[in-house]
Order: sequence, then structure tokens, then C-alpha cells
Amino acid sequence: MKSSVLEIVGLTIPCFSVNTLIIGSGAASLNAALRLFGSGQKDIAIATERWGAGTSNNAGSDKQTYYKQSLYGQESDSPIRMAEDLFSGGSMHGDIALCEAQNSSLAFFNLIGLGVPFPHDRFGGYVGYKTDHDPLGRGTSAGPLTSHLMFEAMAGEVKKKGIPVLNDHEIIVLLTQKIEDNQHVIGAVALDKTELAAGRLGLVLFNAVNVVLGTGGPGGIYRTSVYPESQLGSHGLALSIGAVGQNLTESQFGLASIKFRWNLSGTYQQVIPRYVSTDMDGRGEEEFLNEYFPDMGTLATAIFLKGYQWPFDPKKVRDYGSSLIDVLVYQETVVKGRRVFLDYTANLTGGGCLAEFSFENLGAEAYKYLEKSGVLFGTPIERLKAMNLPAVDLYKEHNIDLEKEYLEIAVCAQHNNGGLRGNVWWESNIKHLFPVGEVNGSHGIYRPGGSALNAGQVGSQRAAFFITKRYAASPPDEGIFAAAVSAQTKNILDFVNRLSRFPAKDDEFLHSTRREIQGRMSSFGAHIRDPKQIEDARNKAWDLYARIRKEMRVSSLQKLPEAFKNLDLCLTHAVYLDAIVEYIHNDGKSRGSFLVLDKGGQKPCEKLGEEWRFSLNEKGSFVEKKILEVRLNEKKEITKNWVDIRPIPREESWFENIWKDYLADNFF
Ligand SMILES: Cc1cc2nc3c(=O)[nH]c(=O)nc-3n(C[C@H](O)[C@H](O)[C@H](O)COP(=O)(O)OP(=O)(O)OC[C@H]3O[C@@H](n4cnc5c(N)ncnc54)[C@H](O)[C@@H]3O)c2cc1C
Repeated sequence: MKSSVLEIVGLTIPCFSVNTLIIGSGAASLNAALRLFGSGQKDIAIATERWGAGTSNNAGSDKQTYYKQSLYGQESDSPIRMAEDLFSGGSMHGDIALCEAQNSSLAFFNLIGLGVPFPHDRFGGYVGYKTDHDPLGRGTSAGPLTSHLMFEAMAGEVKKKGIPVLNDHEIIVLLTQKIEDNQHVIGAVALDKTELAAGRLGLVLFNAVNVVLGTGGPGGIYRTSVYPESQLGSHGLALSIGAVGQNLTESQFGLASIKFRWNLSGTYQQVIPRYVSTDMDGRGEEEFLNEYFPDMGTLATAIFLKGYQWPFDPKKVRDYGSSLIDVLVYQETVVKGRRVFLDYTANLTGGGCLAEFSFENLGAEAYKYLEKSGVLFGTPIERLKAMNLPAVDLYKEHNIDLEKEYLEIAVCAQHNNGGLRGNVWWESNIKHLFPVGEVNGSHGIYRPGGSALNAGQVGSQRAAFFITKRYAASPPDEGIFAAAVSAQTKNILDFVNRLSRFPAKDDEFLHSTRREIQGRMSSFGAHIRDPKQIEDARNKAWDLYARIRKEMRVSSLQKLPEAFKNLDLCLTHAVYLDAIVEYIHNDGKSRGSFLVLDKGGQKPCEKLGEEWRFSLNEKGSFVEKKILEVRLNEKKEITKNWVDIRPIPREESWFENIWKDYLADNFF
């Protein structure tokens, strides 16, 4: 990395020139950096808004899963079988599924090599278990904090190798240049927060041949979210320069605690806690699920099943399925404005309308599981302590004592299956821009639990390989770079001046903008989607985007990152809502992890109101056969394109031919 100072539009701005700028410091970015370094491309730098922030380092669950090809004993698996299972989730391109499958063992063993403690037996067999949407037991886990352990191992290695990390650098704009007919990324602009804190402008330029974008999921667009508070996302960076987004309608939502953000899957549900709701002041306690279920056995079994049917799924709503609980929690919290809690201190009571809880009434699967685990006794907390003590301790570490207090919950946004489009080397339609990790929307409608972490590792490895082989040139001379970006830099400076020249009295406008974005997404663009309200929500999102570009002001330079983040999140939520409108206009119904209300459909259960009617997509319907792509064109208008789903490639695998191509470097 070469550092210099550029005289540009009358200002002196620090500039770093590198072959590859890696944005973000989550598991995907760190892997990209290590893979580049390891394959000989050492002219790299990581710029991150805060070292240690993001989902990988801060999120987890009961047993956080990593999905990989089966590698144990007699289990028969192959890359094609795994690709077929990824592909069968719907709306996922087959060649991408094949890449994620084909490279999964490589990525997994790389993590083992870095010291991530995935468990194995005495013969070295990495045993797996079945996760959701997984027929073959491909899941593995290093415990509740798998992705944190991945972060820790890779972060240590990044430090050991001396890879430059520019901490507290928030990237606010990607710089581009049109070369022939293609838009290329050629660098980025950051705000150095340490400079801002010292009262200086803190603009920093990056002159880069390649940009690896590992900025994670769009956690910041939701009010009700189990993304860590530090993970807001930056999809707007790429969308605003015309990067294609795909499957933006597809995300995962599920039950999580909100005081301390944590997924309530696995044993947290399998011990069958009591669900209660109260008014806003904690009064008027009710076991609100009772009135909707026909008997105690059905209710207790549905709660148990939430353990491994964690994401909300409209296919699991009817017939008193586990996802009916998410609908009822939503009704309680959002529609009725009450609070919902899990109580581990006592068993379900039936509240007078159902029988009292008893193990004998459970469905066979639930009964057997609890019997095998030796916990057919006591209260939920006693069962939880017996089955998974660390799960109890984890809450204690965050000052929540499940032995004494109720745990407040909601249906939260957790993961984005869609995101930016990449090719088989994870390069976007913007040349030299490689979205990796969650910001890359490689998944389709359903994905096996744990495949997000696999995709992040495989994608960053593929991007690093391609960059090393094809895009290894040194960055251009600073003078050439300055000329190419002076107009874009001037636009940024003009905007920064507008934000800060007449400082705001306070930051209420910034805060209310963020609240408006998050409120709108959680109300209209999350797991319950109402065709009657979605267009209005979309229009208001675009109105807000136009308004904040004109009216947003900051009270001090230190607030600039927050203002730019608002701009990014506002654009992101408008584009996401537009994708949902387009989906519904094309007769898209409930699927994946969201429910589209539909007068012509059926009620989720007998006792819910008429307004809850919904239906699932018919097999072979238009939206199931295509993938929705959206992008901003050069006039900044949103365009939508339904593309065919590419099948899994079935190519010749004759060793001598592949070897010949490989030796001739012909396989790209
Ligand atoms: C509660 C929870 C449980 C989960 N459980 C599982 C599971 O069991 N299995 C599974 O496979 N997946 C799981 N996931 C999803 C998975 O953890 C994430 O998809 C993955 O960790 C994302 O990694 P990443 O590297 O793409 O992004 P992140 O780890 O989120 O990192 C993003 C980075 O980008 C930085 N950044 C963002 N914007 C900017 C900017 N403008 N400038 C500079 N830096 C920026 C952030 O600070 C951060 O460092 C879970 C997610 C959650 C929330």
C-alpha cells in the first residue's frame, strides 16, 4: 500500500493506493484478505468502520451452524448432491450453488487450519448434524459463537501477517469510471472517524484496482432485528453506482430476544417455555397462544418444533405448525401493541382453556427427543440447565437471569438471502467490484441453516483467486487517479458542505430519519407484507430519500458518518420495498420467510381474523421460475428485470482435458 497526498478540487486529501481495497472486517472480508495475501497479492488493505463490529464477530445462536459437504464416515455426499440441495431452495442460480458446494470442503479445512475448533472424533472425523433444509447432516458447529471464533482466528492471522487495517474508516462512496461500455470501480472515499473527532474533515481516498465489498447484511434498515447493533450494512454504496441486486425480497425472520439480541432457536424452544404477553406496563399477563390452539399437546409440540424450525416459514403456519407462533407473536406485539415474553420458570398452564402441560400429550418426535435427552421432568429452566447450561449462562453474562425473569422477544430480521449479484467469481456487474459474504445475495428462497457462513468463505476465496490471477495490476499513478475522480470528489465535497455549512441545532432529524426507515421496513417489508399498504410504503421511502438529500444537516462533523449511513440505508430500504412491490405485482404470494396477505387465501388458523388470509405460490408460478433483479440506471431510475434461473452445470470431467485447460490458464 502506498500512501500519498492528493491536491484535488482545492483540498489536500490523503490517498492510499493499493491493488485491492477490502471493505469491512467480518468473516468474509478477513478471509478475502488472507486468501489474497496467501496467494501472493500483498498489495492490499482493509478499511473498516470499526474493527470488531459486524455480525460475524457479534452474533450467534444456541448452536451456530456452519454448512459444509458431509465428510464423516460412510455418509455419501458429493458436490453435485450438495449443489442440488442448495439449488432446490428455489431462485438460486445453479452455477453459484455448484461453486458453493464444490469449494465448501476447501473453505472448511482452511478454517480448521486457522484453528477454528470444529469438533471431530478420535479418527479425525468431522461429524455433522441435520440443520434446516438439509437432507444429509451437513451442519457442524463450534458452539454458540461459531462465527465469532472464525472472526477471532482470522483476525489473529491478519495481524500476524501485518496486513494493513485502517480502522474507524467508514466508506461513504465507491468511485467509478466508465471504460468502454462497462462501469468499473476504481476506488472509494472514506471518512476517517478519528480525524472527525479531532474536528477535521477526515476525507480519505482509496485508489484501488479492485474493491472487495464485505459489508454484511442490511441490519440497519429494520427496527425489529437480531442483527448486532453494530451491523447496519452498506448496500446503498453499491446500489447507488448501478450494482444489480437480486432476490432482495428474500430474508429470514424469526423469534429472538430483544434486550440482548439473540436467536431463540434449538434448546431455547425445545424445553418448551411459556409464552406470555402483557400490556406496555407489564400488566394484564396472558398466555396468549392458548386460545388459538386446539389442545395442549399441539401447542407444546409447536413450541418444541420452533427449536429446529427457527426461521418463520409460511408453509409451517397452517395445521397449527410452529410458524403460527410467529404470526401470533406479531399480532400481539405489532397489531395489539403488547409485549411478549418467554417464561422459563414454569410450565404452560393452559390458562383455563387448555389442559395443563404434560409430557404425555406431546407429539412423538418431541417426546422422544426429550426422553433421549433425559429431561422428562421439571420446569423449562430445569430442562434447559440439564440440556444446555451455556445457553443459560450466556444470558447471565448479559445480565438476564432466566431462572428469575421473563425474556422479552419479537419476530426479528436476521439474515438477507438476497443481496448484490455476483458471477461465479463473485464479481458484480460493476467490473472489479466483488461483493462477498452476506452483502452478496447468492442464496435463493430457502437455504440450509449454516450456508450463509459457507457462502461467505467460498465467495471470498473465489474473489481472491480471480483477483490474483486476472486483476493483479498495480494501481494507476495518483495523478491519473486524481483526474479520473475529481468530479466525483467535488460532488462529495459539495454534499458534505451542504450537510455541515449551516449546522443543525441538534441531531433529531438524523434520528427521526433512521426511525422512519426502520419503522417502515419492520411494518411493511419484513415477514408480514400487505399488498394494500406496500406501494404507499415504497412511495414514502423514495420521498424520504429525495428529502434527506436536500434537507439533512448535521450538528457537527462527527455526525457525518451517521448522515451518510442514513442516506445509504434510505436508498437500500427504498430499493428493497420496490422489489417487494414488483414481486407482489407479479402475483407473488407467501414463500420463504414472509407471508403476503391475500383475501382469496385461507386463514392461518380458525380463530385468527379474516385479515390474516394468505396463500402460497403455486408450483411453477412466474415468480418461482425467475429471479428478480433490480438496479438503478444511469438516470438513477430503478429498473426491474426477471431473469431465468441458471441450472446446475453438468460439464465434462475428463481429467486430461481439465488439466490442459488448467495449465493453459484457460479455466476462467
Ligand atoms: C443472530 C444471528 C445468527 C446467525 N446464525 C447463523 C448460523 O447459524 N449459520 C450461518 O451460516 N449464518 C448465521 N447467521 C448469518 C451470518 O452470521 C452472517 O451472514 C455472516 O456472519 C456475515 O458475515 P460478513 O462477513 O458478510 O459480514 P459481517 O460479519 O456483518 O461484517 C460486515 C463488516 O463490514 C463493516 N462495514 C459495513 N459497512 C461499512 C462501511 N461503509 N465502511 C467500512 N466498513 C463497513 C462492518 O463494520 C463489519 O466489519 C446469523 C446471523 C445472525 C444475526
